[in-house]
Amino acid sequence: MSDSTAPASTTIDGAIRTDVVIIGAGPVGLFAVFECGMLKLGCHVIDALDAVGGQCIALYPEKPIFDIPGYPQIEAAALIERLAEQAAPFDPVYHLGQQVVRLTRTDSGYIVESSTGTVIACHAVIIAGGSGAFGPNRPPLDGLEQYENRSLFYLVKKRQDFAGKRVVIAGGGDSAVDWAVSLAEIAANVMVVHRRDKFRAAPETVQKMRKLAAEGKIEMIIPYQLSGLEGDDGMLTGVRVETLDGEERLLEADNLLAFFGLAMELGPIAEWGLDLAGFHIAVDPATMATTLPGVFAIGDIATYPGKLKLILTGFAEAASAAHAAFAVARPGEALHFEYSTSKGVPAEASTPA
Ligand SMILES: Cc1cc2nc3c(=O)[nH]c(=O)nc-3n(C[C@H](O)[C@H](O)[C@H](O)COP(=O)(O)OP(=O)(O)OC[C@H]3O[C@@H](n4cnc5c(N)ncnc54)[C@H](O)[C@@H]3O)c2cc1C
Repeated sequence: MSDSTAPASTTIDGAIRTDVVIIGAGPVGLFAVFECGMLKLGCHVIDALDAVGGQCIALYPEKPIFDIPGYPQIEAAALIERLAEQAAPFDPVYHLGQQVVRLTRTDSGYIVESSTGTVIACHAVIIAGGSGAFGPNRPPLDGLEQYENRSLFYLVKKRQDFAGKRVVIAGGGDSAVDWAVSLAEIAANVMVVHRRDKFRAAPETVQKMRKLAAEGKIEMIIPYQLSGLEGDDGMLTGVRVETLDGEERLLEADNLLAFFGLAMELGPIAEWGLDLAGFHIAVDPATMATTLPGVFAIGDIATYPGKLKLILTGFAEAASAAHAAFAVARPGEALHFEYSTSKGVPAEASTPA
């Protein structure tokens, strides 16, 4: 077993210095910490969200994932816990709740700056920024803000919060259909508002939803769309809906779940001179190198012909990027390929909160 690793950082003249800065602490960014650590590259990880986990934690923490190798089924939040635990022995430094806003090239690498003033000098940068600065598409309703995160939500963090509640679910995609089926078991009632009788979701789940509707466990409010909110002090009492012909209904409700998808926005990443393909960064799939020397992109944000946007793809990309980053951070040093079974990992450190 190896008993030493590169320190995650040193401080010289007040500036943090490290080998690699990873932008994004989603599942793929977390695994990149592990892969870099195995090559004795120290890492700092910066994420705009307050917790590690990216989409898994922000969008579907309680959903089981079925296509992670070695786990026939694992809840998204549990996968993130495992990944953070796997990265912990390498002592990564997490800077959460801050967005990376600037990347400046230097003689020995890059200076990375965040929205809260963190400045880190590094040899290489791995961008694992997912969908960039993602946020929900909000319905255009008056006074929406006062209800947000109190009785109106764009994701379900804890299913049990909706037990015994009258819940309106708006949208026609996977999230709307999945949660309608799931919450029908515990909510006082579930109403699905959609503008047409077609859903862009897994056919089996749509079938389940229709069966529950036929049994009176879900009320289908079709073809309607949201038109207003009723309530007081952030707590909803009703959701107004209308048809395209202006026919109105008031649905008595405690909660509104609005599932209109994510607004994809690369944010500051779009300004760094990278070769972009829509909302993605074009990379060489052999090394995950971008067009900027020493800058790599992995996970959902990276694209190349045949790219599969899956967590397991991102894991392999993290390994490729770490090996390519080694050549940048340790120029002239030979990298001998070794299995983890031969190398082992350092004694475990603590996992991030
Ligand atoms: C409902 C749902 C179900 C899914 N189910 C599956 C599944 O079953 N199997 C599967 O393989 N995949 C699934 N996915 C997709 C999977 O979640 C993504 O492929 C995965 O999250 C991508 O990981 P990532 O680390 O690349 O990016 P993300 O998880 O998106 O994380 C990126 C992180 O980067 C941060 N970031 C972005 N820009 C900046 C910046 N400038 N500064 C600082 N931080 C920044 C973001 O805040 C975010 O935390 C699902 C997705 C959804 C929405």
